[in-house]
Amino acid sequence: MRRKFFYTLILLSCFCNCYAQKLHKAIFVIVDGVPADLMETIHLPTIKEIQKQGAYLHSYVGGEKGAYSQSPTISAVGYNSLLTGTWAHKHNVWGNSGKNIDSINYHYPSIFKLFKEQFPQKKSALFSTWTDNRTKLIGNQVALDIVYDGFEKDTLRFPHDKNSYYIHAIDNEVATQAAYSIRTEAPDLSWVYLQFTDDVAHRYGYSDSLTEAVKLMEKQINKIWEAVKYRQKNYNEKWQVWITTDHGRDKTGKHHGGQSVQERSTWIVSNQNLPIYFLQNGTAIVDILPTIAAFLKIQIPVNVQRELDGQSLLKKPSLNTVNMKHSNASLNISWKALQKKGKVKIWVTTTNQFKLGGNDEYRLMANVDLKKENATVDLSTMPSSFYKVVIEAPGTSLNRQIILKND
Ligand SMILES: [Zn+2]
Repeated sequence: MRRKFFYTLILLSCFCNCYAQKLHKAIFVIVDGVPADLMETIHLPTIKEIQKQGAYLHSYVGGEKGAYSQSPTISAVGYNSLLTGTWAHKHNVWGNSGKNIDSINYHYPSIFKLFKEQFPQKKSALFSTWTDNRTKLIGNQVALDIVYDGFEKDTLRFPHDKNSYYIHAIDNEVATQAAYSIRTEAPDLSWVYLQFTDDVAHRYGYSDSLTEAVKLMEKQINKIWEAVKYRQKNYNEKWQVWITTDHGRDKTGKHHGGQSVQERSTWIVSNQNLPIYFLQNGTAIVDILPTIAAFLKIQIPVNVQRELDGQSLLKKPSLNTVNMKHSNASLNISWKALQKKGKVKIWVTTTNQFKLGGNDEYRLMANVDLKKENATVDLSTMPSSFYKVVIEAPGTSLNRQIILKND
């Protein structure tokens, strides 16, 4: 009996070791402008297969509607919210071109910067039509190891046509290169961007053409997914795959940019098994960065963590539904506790040096039981028309800004 116990222990430790040694790798794919309602009505077998291993989540872009974090439902704005885990009032990308993209604030680091700072020896990769994804959004923050982009400039190989079918051909090339790279080099963190769906939607709106474009996109996803499965089968690797879109569309399907429910509603598919909480409560594009960071074991510096507008989806949060009321130099913060144990710490600062590349000095203003669901903070010793408030609870960190109108 004892011997049996001993062998079980050995077996168990072998299993644990093997599991622990699995190399974690992550890839995220942004498919442009595929609205949630369309995604949910088309039969997409590869998406279904990925979802079966992990989850399909209702998601949103656009920040908090009507509040300081409201962000346009425009492509580059959405990409950069994924890349930085923040909304537009922080990363400062408000559109696709000109000063709307050139005004980007690199002080909010991209996932690639966080990753390469900690793991300079590991490989990062980008596969994209649009060079701006690399040259402007990722910028000089970090040099990527593997890059396939800029194919739209190769008019010999991809002659431009009126119907933008060349963009479909480019997406095919992008997906093929991504799949090949995964099979042969297995980059540790990759971004794939596919554009054709948005072009078709702008031209035809909701139509058979758009449905067809989504199906073609899914075939490209299949190449990537098969490559991931190949790696997982033949190498000691565990891959976290994310597929999402950068915005929804208006009722016609032709336009986007506004704050209607249809334009804000998006979706996320992952092979990562996620708590049922997120399946019921949905999520946002800014949650992808903290989740990938947790999976790849990227240690996010505290000052960066305090700016993140998303949270890791690997664990159910310990609180939600945060409300703040400011009056007479006092701040009341309420929340809904999702667990009984633990403390909530309220940190407050009156500065926003982070935005300029500096550090903010936060003061711990309250430390109360999570189950109390309420805290009142006396701000009389730190008068200001601007506050950043961080609410720290077990496994959860949320931040809010309070911008008071000057009378
Ligand atoms: Zn877009």
